[in-house]
Amino acid sequence: MALYEENDVYISNSISRKKELFTALNAPNLGLYVCGPTVYSDVHLGNCRTFISFDLVYRYLTHLGYKVRYVRNITDAGHLENDADEGEDKISQRARLEQLEPMEIVQKYTLGFHGVMSRFNAFPPTIEPTATGHIVEQIDMIQKIIDEGFAYEKNGSVYFDVKKYNESNDYGKLSGRKIEELISGTRELDAQSEKESPLDFAIWKKASPSHIMRWNSPWGIGFPGWHLECSVMSTKYLGDEFDIHGGGMDLKFPHHECEIAQNKASNGSEGPRYWMHGNMLTLNGQRMSKSTGNTLLPHELFTGETDKLEKGFAPTIARFFMLQAHYGSQLDFSSDALLAAEKGYHRLMAAYRKLASLEPSAESTSEFKVAEWHKASYAAMNDDFNSPILISQLFEATRTINSWENKAPLSASDFKLLKESMQAFIFDVLGLEDIGAQGSGQKLDDVINILLDLRKQARDDRDFSLSDAIRDKLADAGIEVKDGKDGSTYSISL
Ligand code: AMP
Ligand code: ZN
Repeated sequence: MALYEENDVYISNSISRKKELFTALNAPNLGLYVCGPTVYSDVHLGNCRTFISFDLVYRYLTHLGYKVRYVRNITDAGHLENDADEGEDKISQRARLEQLEPMEIVQKYTLGFHGVMSRFNAFPPTIEPTATGHIVEQIDMIQKIIDEGFAYEKNGSVYFDVKKYNESNDYGKLSGRKIEELISGTRELDAQSEKESPLDFAIWKKASPSHIMRWNSPWGIGFPGWHLECSVMSTKYLGDEFDIHGGGMDLKFPHHECEIAQNKASNGSEGPRYWMHGNMLTLNGQRMSKSTGNTLLPHELFTGETDKLEKGFAPTIARFFMLQAHYGSQLDFSSDALLAAEKGYHRLMAAYRKLASLEPSAESTSEFKVAEWHKASYAAMNDDFNSPILISQLFEATRTINSWENKAPLSASDFKLLKESMQAFIFDVLGLEDIGAQGSGQKLDDVINILLDLRKQARDDRDFSLSDAIRDKLADAGIEVKDGKDGSTYSISL
């Protein structure tokens, strides 16, 4: 029996605002679509949090035995500077500033994004489609929406008719907004606006002569509206109806609301059955955002080259820090919180390594009941991917393992279950990496301390040629030993 058949997963579905039992449309297959980055600049840690949250979802569903088709797009056209269908395309603007071709901008920041995600040990999606690679499909969807009577053409642009759609559907369903409030909240259309109503949004925009990203269409030369690409690429690869759609909370309106409308208007189905929204990463209590400059970049975090941090942190520590909060809760980034996460991470990894070196006993005599712990750990993840509760379960195991000496007071089968589940939760599900084992962390520290103990022994035995040789060889390897009145310490020059 596959694990997913034994585990009922509940998901906080943004569209019903309820925690719902998840049922896959076509198990063991499962379709997951996540809005990807707009590749016009470096991703910041806020963006990374959303992608790490969905990496957790992908990893857990895969762990349960689903065959997940994970589609995450690259927005490389159509995302304008503001949501009111005005302003320049973000990629074109950057291309002009950097004096590059738009596709050079796209390539540069896509590669940068991939590099960062791999340092965070996030799996790549199984399909990573681009907006510019799906212009034909976008034109097809626009035509369908026009044919169904939900869009109109004006001077070479095509607009989605929100009022018309709302007569037979519920625009605002996802974001909880009422169309009357939306209308009163928008400013009057100015005289030159082509839209029939301020709520209408462009699904195709006529390109001005200076707009460098442009394609031919039945309505003239132009480019697709940003919301359209996600409707097109999700349904192309996952079907008109599919399982899960994710993204950051800030995308609920208008982006996701418009996706639902486009899907329904073109093919009669709303698209995803479960909507998941990740909450924001904040810095000094304010949302991290490219536009306000309140951001921290991944390389600043890794190197510590920023006045916002006392030192650099390994990517896996930052990942651990992020997963200590539920994806649906806001999380504030701070140096202190990172330092605390680093300590916790090393405690957890040390316990995991210790477990690997222990032997089981004839029978289980520990108060720590492995089967119950195992069940509670799955229950945490089944409850809307509650990684903080899973991590507290892992810390409970850590405390217990630390209290054991030489032998684990567990039967061979309990011991095996504990070892295998620790391994699965830490590495497969949470996606952490053991940096100690890579030589720069705990393991290296252990080895140097062994050498320092041997050197002390040599000095106590008055074998100074051996103690000096240990010191000199360590120095040759870039490890400087300093003798103090409380013993020896060392520093590594990198
Ligand atoms: P963008 O490249 O602006 O389209 O954003 C890519 C993803 O990052 C989207 O899913 C956004 O919702 C998400 N995002 C942007 N800012 C933050 C933040 N401060 N915290 C978490 N996710 C964010
Ligand atoms: Zn999207």
